[in-house]
Order: sequence, then structure tokens, then C-alpha cells
Amino acid sequence: MSQPSPAHDDAPDGGDAEVGDTIVDWYAGAARDLPWRAPGTDPWAVLVSEVMLQQTPVNRVEPVWREWLARWPQAAALAAASPAEVIRAWGKLGYPRRALRLREAAVAITAQHAGRVPADVAELEALPGIGTYTARAVACFGHGQRQPVVDTNVRRVVARLVHGRAEAAPARATDLTDVAVLAPVDHDRAVRFSVAVMELGALVCVAGTPRCGVCPVRDRCAWRLAGSPAYEGPPRRVQRFAGTDRQVRGRLLDVLRTAAGPEAAAELAAVWTDDVQRARCVDSLLVDGLVVQTEDGRFALPD
Ligand code: SF4
Repeated sequence: MSQPSPAHDDAPDGGDAEVGDTIVDWYAGAARDLPWRAPGTDPWAVLVSEVMLQQTPVNRVEPVWREWLARWPQAAALAAASPAEVIRAWGKLGYPRRALRLREAAVAITAQHAGRVPADVAELEALPGIGTYTARAVACFGHGQRQPVVDTNVRRVVARLVHGRAEAAPARATDLTDVAVLAPVDHDRAVRFSVAVMELGALVCVAGTPRCGVCPVRDRCAWRLAGSPAYEGPPRRVQRFAGTDRQVRGRLLDVLRTAAGPEAAAELAAVWTDDVQRARCVDSLLVDGLVVQTEDGRFALPD
């Protein structure tokens, strides 16, 4: 539930808020209709969406997010679930440690905040698995606060639009200020700006070749005004998936997620035959708390 805030609260002085206003106007006609953006979305629902979206595309997140909110509509409900239940419900979203961290956050919210997701950024950052980005996203999108919210997409937009660079630099301490000074002065528009600039990076100022021809701020873009200079940084790594430990961990976890009970090591060997890599991945799943070993040496999801 959004909480009312005074207009102009913490509004930065001397920024280029006109650019931000243009982006907000563009967003009004271009935004995707995503369920967690619906007016009045509960901060808990926003928090769940933000954790799921950290490393997984929107189209894969949406059905799982709906299932989670139907099953665990508040933090207290998730806090009462077992780790095995949340790992199963995470399905194939990837990076399943997020599921355990989200449950741990739900436990902390229930124990320390009477089941309500805090609105204070510092309190949010103190929750398990909640970092700079997610804390501000929840404060802004869930609680209606004016907050700079900087993800990869936003960092790329700012790199081009403000700094004239072809691609974003690694995360820097100045990222939040860079974004804050672009926000409109009006409180409600500043809140919308945080999601609008993210959407601009997701739909128009995309990685690789940006769609400058349809960009609402193309006439103000430092990179475009500089003649669209090529990227000159170090070569960018293309993330592969096939054959990685991440793929192996996913396969091993799939076996245990769909099993009726603990499985013998032979069942795991059936889905990945490289003994060394499989052993390494089983070990890391045990260390991460995603898998436990029974007294008779079989493997299972944690109770
Ligand atoms: S003009 Fe092109 S590079 Fe500049 S902000 Fe728009 S899409 Fe990005």
C-alpha cells in the first residue's frame, strides 16, 4: 500500500528534472502492463517480484509470482513454510538461493516488523538477501517513496544519456546521485520516474544497439550528441549456460524437487555423468542449504 508523502520531499536541486519529466510522459504510453505495477500493490508482493526479477526475465517470473502470492499472500505465511516447500515453488526461476533468502527475509519481517514490510531503506537493507537495489525498489514501488532505484538497465541509460558512454561502467557510489538528479520535482512523478527510467532501459535504451529512433530523450542524450562513439572498454563476457555448474545444480535440484522422498546418489548420477563436476555441485548445494544428506547417505530438499 502506498503511503502518502509530502510533495518535493528530498527533491534534489540543480538536476535535469526536465529529462525525467519527459521519460515519465513517455512511460505513460509505453509501459508494459505488469501485475506488480498495478496501483495499490502490497509492499510484500513488490518485494517478492523484485527478488524474482533480479536474475530472471519478466515472462518467466509472472506465473511463479502469481502462484507465490496466492499461496503466501503475506510474509508471515511464507515464514511458516518449510525450505523444501519454497525450493519446490521456486521452480525453474534459477539461482534458487534467492528462494531461501526470501523465506529468511519473511521470517525476519514477521519476527521484527510484525509481519509488515518496512518502509525504511536501512531496515530493508538489514533483511536477509536485500541489497541496495531491492531496498530502494521496495521503498519506492511498494511504499511510494521518492527513491533512486538503480538496476543494470538504469545504469546503462545514465551512462549514455548523462555521461555519453556506450555502455555502463561497473556499479559506482555515484549511481544513486546520477539518477536522483534526473527525477522530476513533483513527488508522485518522481516515484513514477524510478520505474519509467528502468522501463526505458528495458525497452528502448537496450544493451547492444539502443533504439534511439524511438527514444523520448534522444535530443538530450550525451552519447547520441557525441556521435554515438563505439564502446572501447574491455571485452564483455558472454554468459554461457550449457555445461556450467549452474546447469548441473539445476538438474540435480530438479531430481530432488520432483522426488517423493530422498534420492540415492545413483539418481543424481543419472542426470549428470561427469563425476567430478557432479560431486562439486552436490557439495555446493549442501553448503548453500538447498540440499541435505540423510543418515543413510541419500539426498533430499531441506525440511
Ligand atoms: S538516445 Fe539512444 S542511447 Fe540515448 S538514451 Fe535514448 S536510446 Fe539510449
